[in-house]
Amino acid sequence: MTRRTDDAARLCQHGTVSDTERDPRPYVLWDVDGTLLRNGVNAGGLYGEAIELAIGRPLEHPVPRVHGKTDGQIIWEALDANGLPRDLHSLASAHLDQLSLERHLGGSRREIAPGVVGALRAFDEHGFVNALLTGNSANRTRYKMEGAGLDTRAFDWRHSYFGDTAPLRAEITLRAAAELEGHRLVIIGDTPGDGIGADAAGIPFIAVATGHYTVAELRETGAALVVEDLLSGLPEVLAALVGLPSLDRA
Ligand SMILES: [Mg+2]
Repeated sequence: MTRRTDDAARLCQHGTVSDTERDPRPYVLWDVDGTLLRNGVNAGGLYGEAIELAIGRPLEHPVPRVHGKTDGQIIWEALDANGLPRDLHSLASAHLDQLSLERHLGGSRREIAPGVVGALRAFDEHGFVNALLTGNSANRTRYKMEGAGLDTRAFDWRHSYFGDTAPLRAEITLRAAAELEGHRLVIIGDTPGDGIGADAAGIPFIAVATGHYTVAELRETGAALVVEDLLSGLPEVLAALVGLPSLDRA
C-alpha cells in the first residue's frame, strides 16, 4: 500500500477525505495558446518587452522561437542569448505578468479556438474534469481567458499546472502526473512541445491544429490522435477519451 493510499484510508476514517481522493474522475489537461485560444499576432513580442523593462535598454538579440515553450523557458533562453544574468528571470517574469494585464485592460483580445466551448461542455458531461497545463503563469492565463470571454470557471484551477518558472514543459507534466496519480489523464495541445512533455510523463496526447503547427506536422509527434480543430474533430476526440484503452491510466 502506498503512502498516499495510507493517507487516504486514514482520512476516510475521519470523514475528511480530500476532493482528489473522493473523486477519481479523469482529467483533461488543456494547453492555452493555440489550443484553447488562438495565438496572439506577435507571440514573441511581449517576452522581449518584459526583459527590456527588466534591463532598462533594448535587447541586442531577438527572443528565440517561442511556440510550445514555457514562459520560464523562453525568458531563460532570451537571457542566455543576450548574455544577461539569469537572476533577472523573476523580474522579467513580473514584468511579463504586468504587460499581460495591461494588454488585457487595454482591450487586446484573443479569440477562442473553434469548438472549444462545446468541447469543454462535452468533456464535463462525459465525466471529465477540465484543467490547465500551460507554459503561462496562472495570472497570464486568467487575463488571456477573460480577454477572450472564455469562462474561467470551466476549469479546476486547484489541479492546474503552470510554467512561469519551469525551464522545460516536462517539468510541468511530471508534476501533474505525480499530483494526479490514480486519475486517468490526457493532454490536449497544439505543438510538438506539448507532445514531448506528455511523453515524458507517460500521459496520452491529443493534438489540435489550431495553433502554429499543421495536422501533418503534429502527426510526426507521438499523439494518440490529431484533429484539425475541436469543432470538426470533437466526435473523434470524445471517442478517444472515452474508448481508447491506451488512454486508461487508472
Ligand atoms: Mg500551445
